[in-house]
Amino acid sequence: MKFDNIIIGGGLSGLTCGITLAKAGKKVAVITAGQSTLHFCSGSFDLLGYDAEGKAIENPVEAVAQLKESHPYKKAGVENIASLAQDAAAILTECGLKLKGDIKRNHYRITPMGVLKPTWLTLEEYLTADSAAGVAYKKLVVANITGFHDFPVEFIAEGLRKTSTEVEVKTLSIPALKERRCSPSEMRSANISKVLSTEDTLQEIADKLNSIANDAEAIILPAIIGINNDENIAILKAKVNKPLFVIATLPPSVPGVRVQKALRSYFEKIGGVFMMGNKVCGGEIEDGKVKHIETTLLPDEQLSADNYILATGSFQSEGLMSNYVKVYEPVLDLDVDASDKRTEWVDTMVYNAQPYMEYGVKTNNVFQTQKNGSTIENLYAIGSVLSGHNAIKQADGTGVSMVTAIAVAKNILNK
Ligand SMILES: Cc1cc2nc3c(=O)[nH]c(=O)nc-3n(C[C@H](O)[C@H](O)[C@H](O)COP(=O)(O)OP(=O)(O)OC[C@H]3O[C@@H](n4cnc5c(N)ncnc54)[C@H](O)[C@@H]3O)c2cc1C
Repeated sequence: MKFDNIIIGGGLSGLTCGITLAKAGKKVAVITAGQSTLHFCSGSFDLLGYDAEGKAIENPVEAVAQLKESHPYKKAGVENIASLAQDAAAILTECGLKLKGDIKRNHYRITPMGVLKPTWLTLEEYLTADSAAGVAYKKLVVANITGFHDFPVEFIAEGLRKTSTEVEVKTLSIPALKERRCSPSEMRSANISKVLSTEDTLQEIADKLNSIANDAEAIILPAIIGINNDENIAILKAKVNKPLFVIATLPPSVPGVRVQKALRSYFEKIGGVFMMGNKVCGGEIEDGKVKHIETTLLPDEQLSADNYILATGSFQSEGLMSNYVKVYEPVLDLDVDASDKRTEWVDTMVYNAQPYMEYGVKTNNVFQTQKNGSTIENLYAIGSVLSGHNAIKQADGTGVSMVTAIAVAKNILNK
């Protein structure tokens, strides 16, 4: 099978790149082994949240200039970040996602542990704050669902109280979830959202919320509604008498699954081929170019393309792996930026920046990969498989994924 472009990995970076190429009329295949880290997503997209000292950044586009040279944004070009980020936001909108946020001014999302963190874009119905000083409401009701343990409601309440918001915690019992409650493994956000989707159930939730709201200015629910789109949350909002917002839960993430589905379905709609559950297990490199790749599900089929894009993620997605002696890239054994001393991989102080977080595939300034010191001309890397930044300490994971994906797609299109 021959394509113009083959993308290995179907998370945020792979699909963003695939959409950009398919929109330009290219024949694109995304081959992906499993679910992506979007399943941990908070409902927000970070561009650049913290500087090297851990200080929250107000204007992420301006702050890019201060990053070290190895950071993927520096490779994409400081002067290009604003337009690449705007292209990324446009893709999310084209996929049908409604977002709030501004590339020139971070706002704050509320994590499932009740911490305020700077971010770039947030799904419209999620609770956000304009600044670290807190949300716009002085009195909130935070309502959890009986038997749902993935929403640490007391942490969230405490986090909001620290910003001088008065918070009352309530629990709703939803009869439609009675059978699910018999098995704790069923009481997960993704399962619950499938049940909380009928008009009657939404009406029942709205009635209960209206009866407990008292003098609160707004009501907060865990993100357990709307796994496919924002329709059910819009229906519920229309039935509730006060402003209603959600906060992301511990994984699985309802907003993350929604984003993944939206990207995939848009990619397929514009002609992309999405091969789910298929793992790229090797390939042939000849004269500095990838000739073809091999996959576990199509062992007799050599898949080939003019260009290949590695979007396999970091350690969590097995885009990077380690053994007792080295950190390595498992598909083609590409060169990686990583210490060869195992003792240097981690800092023993758990809250310090962990060196392994910056490990990844080595690339040049246009994100071409290399093996044994030689550039592979038609194999690019994008997203969290790249080296050079710490997504946790810098709050830039989703931004790096989308910005590098679009930068590489544009580079391929201009070749
Ligand atoms: C726990 C967690 C929480 C996060 N929370 C946030 C957040 O709140 N805000 C934020 O901005 N960012 C967050 N991030 C970061 C963000 O999710 C990532 O930066 C971004 O989504 C990474 O996308 P990716 O496409 O590069 O990689 P991934 O999402 O890791 O996707 C890689 C894909 O490649 C596939 N794959 C791997 N190997 C192969 C192979 N050999 N063949 C075929 N397919 C393969 C995997 O199955 C996977 O589907 C979080 C990350 C994690 C891990």
